[in-house]
Amino acid sequence: MKFKGYLLADNFLKGKNMARSEAVKQMSKLTILLPGGIIPPAILARVSDLLERFEFGLYVSTAQNLRLVNIAEEDLAAIKEELAAAGASFKGPGLFPMAKVCIGATSCNLGIVDTIEISRKIAERFGDRTNVKPKFKIAVSGCPAACSGAMLADIGVVATRAGFDLYVGGKGGPRPAAGKRIKKGSDLAGVLDTIESLVDFHQQNTGKKQRFAKLIEADNFPFSFI
Ligand code: SF4
Repeated sequence: MKFKGYLLADNFLKGKNMARSEAVKQMSKLTILLPGGIIPPAILARVSDLLERFEFGLYVSTAQNLRLVNIAEEDLAAIKEELAAAGASFKGPGLFPMAKVCIGATSCNLGIVDTIEISRKIAERFGDRTNVKPKFKIAVSGCPAACSGAMLADIGVVATRAGFDLYVGGKGGPRPAAGKRIKKGSDLAGVLDTIESLVDFHQQNTGKKQRFAKLIEADNFPFSFI
């Protein structure tokens, strides 16, 4: 079976950039949120089943979500409905961002904490928020190696033997920046409270969208760097 995603990639490799760009604009996409990067078997089975009946491409995003790409517009509603029935939830505007996590103590010898559980706790505490302004990212790492890119996230949580360190203002892009530490050796409750303060600050001090790298320079930023 050849998915549309491959066909578009073929065109791109042959230098048909215009054709590819126009084709992508006409196709729909749908991103299934996968908290902690975990794929529930029911959703995996439903995606597999849908692939038998519809043509689309699959992409595991850098944010650890599963994106269905190059969906024919007329198929989108049916695909979404079936996935929702299997328990899927979808990326959309105004939702609180899912934390990107490394595998942590669940499956890494160096892991100090269960990062997936922490990601779940963040989702439990903040997942009901609506109208969240873009565009900040959260990452959680199970040890100071910081494989999830916690130092390059707007809000980065790093487990150490002495507790959690919390960084803010990291970013990639054309002008990358490492996050600055604002908490050291915190417990999880303290981490969640600090995330809440940061997100409230972001909400109150952001017009349309803003990365934390800019906000931490503001005079009223409520934390010092340590
Ligand atoms: S950050 Fe540490 S715990 Fe997480 S995957 Fe990397 S080495 Fe393992």
